[in-house]
Amino acid sequence: MVGTGDGAVETRLASVERQFWIDRDVALQAAEEWLEELGEGDHGATSRRLRVLIAAVRIHRTDPSQSAIDVQEILAWAEQHGEIALQSRCHDVLGSVFEMVGDRALALEHAVAANDLLAETEIPLMRAAARKCLADALGSAGSLDEARRRYDDALKLVIDDPETNIRYIILNNLAYTEHLAHNHVEALATVERLVGLSELSDRQIGMSARDTIARVYMAAGRLPEAETMLIPALDTAFSDSHPDSSAAALVALTQLYRTQGRLDQSQVVIDRCRDLAQRNGLIRWTTEAAREQAEIYAAQENYRAAFEAYRNYHEQSVALGASENEAKGRILEAMFQTAESRRESERYRELAERDPLTGLHNRRFVDENLGGALLQLREGGPSLAIAMIDLDHFKRVNDTLSHEVGDEVLRTLGRILNAAVDPVPGGIAARLGGEEFLLILPETDAAKAYELAEGLCRSIAGHDWSPITHGLPVTASIGVALAPADGAQNSDLLRTADLRLYVAKRNGRNRVVHSAAISGLIGDDAAAAPETPPLETLMVVVA
Ligand code: GH3
Ligand code: MG
Ligand code: MG
Repeated sequence: MVGTGDGAVETRLASVERQFWIDRDVALQAAEEWLEELGEGDHGATSRRLRVLIAAVRIHRTDPSQSAIDVQEILAWAEQHGEIALQSRCHDVLGSVFEMVGDRALALEHAVAANDLLAETEIPLMRAAARKCLADALGSAGSLDEARRRYDDALKLVIDDPETNIRYIILNNLAYTEHLAHNHVEALATVERLVGLSELSDRQIGMSARDTIARVYMAAGRLPEAETMLIPALDTAFSDSHPDSSAAALVALTQLYRTQGRLDQSQVVIDRCRDLAQRNGLIRWTTEAAREQAEIYAAQENYRAAFEAYRNYHEQSVALGASENEAKGRILEAMFQTAESRRESERYRELAERDPLTGLHNRRFVDENLGGALLQLREGGPSLAIAMIDLDHFKRVNDTLSHEVGDEVLRTLGRILNAAVDPVPGGIAARLGGEEFLLILPETDAAKAYELAEGLCRSIAGHDWSPITHGLPVTASIGVALAPADGAQNSDLLRTADLRLYVAKRNGRNRVVHSAAISGLIGDDAAAAPETPPLETLMVVVA
């Protein structure tokens, strides 16, 4: 598995991630403690897996903006570092965030990526979680058949997992999706599987699943069963520890009583619901309680009170809509801003690696890029060549014409160099400084380097410079070096190319001095050229 690269760490991470599906509070605590243990500094994929887990718990509890931004940044890091398992987890969480803020297209995009990036070697629980995420997104997007298929896939993966609650969540979400689509038969069948599972494993059904089950029963006219499901929400000890899902269940219960004409009971339940929602700051359920209150008054034929209650509900509902929209807006804005600033910083980075005069890459870029290419080479990657280029008597251009003309010559040379590397995949043309340039030529052997450098030398000399220099010739001298033959470190390779460039100057300029590796290909009679310094062992001079 791509990831932390350590078996023990991987096992411990898997166990914390599993805990998420058993008890989120325990998982949150375990992740926070581990992060504390790791302390300051960068802990690679491990600390980030923990932070994604923490975000996954928090997005459902507090303002999800900060968690969403964290996960987005971690995703960018994971992409840069090729951490596939981490990328998948990030997409999973982002899928849920966009689902929450109602952006179905982005929710689906992230859910698809979460699945695509998940290795088949991952534990079934993680694979089921990703399928569930995709199924949720497909369901919200209205692709019911597709959603059903993913829920089924997810269930199959964890069918004999008695410890976690993922099976209950999958069945709950499937039932709710069917219910919203008015597929009463399918919804009921799923609910029955859920109830059956809980009886079989002797496990209490959680409050949010109870709410789903009761609503499905109500739609099927099975009112007593719906009531039985919802009654536990009246237990204060229970509802206080799960206020949100209990408030939802109380709303369902008050509706159930009202439609049966049990208005007194309905009133008792709605009072409880309003109280619970207010104590816990659940604006959404305070608003729902206001609407239900209006309905109860109307059922009692107390129209004046119903009108007042309805107006109250309407005001709250408008405020709720505004605050929900505002919250969604805040989350989306925060997420887009970070994406924006990442693009910006990439642009600045790009600028920092370019030479402003010619638009070619600069020395800094060469150091990084050549270093990376040589590292690959040491790990068994293909060989490469470099060519160092220096204009001949360039000072004369500046002195006899002008500095501006000199600049124009450099810009034009930049275009010639770009054209020269264009046919070489991954080829790079850079300005090292002044009138000194470098080409990096991946997967280029001695023969190809020879051909390219000779061609370049001729095209510089043969270019029609007259519109710029009015008759003053422009030529260049070039030194070529090959890796690994001439060295496998930045400094060795550059030094060798520089040395050969110097020999080319000494030998009369407007020429190329090649790698020693070329001697077998072209013969070494040219080595006898008059100005050759005592470096013959290193190179062959081609006039
Ligand atoms: P050689 O053939 O031995 O390389 O001779 P040269 O005159 O090219 O070499 P030298 O190193 O003596 O001079 C390089 C000149 O390049 C000096 C400097 O004024 C000029 N130069 C460096 N950077 C720039 C630039 O950005 N624009 C212009 N116009 N000239 C530059
Ligand atoms: Mg020069
Ligand atoms: Mg120079």
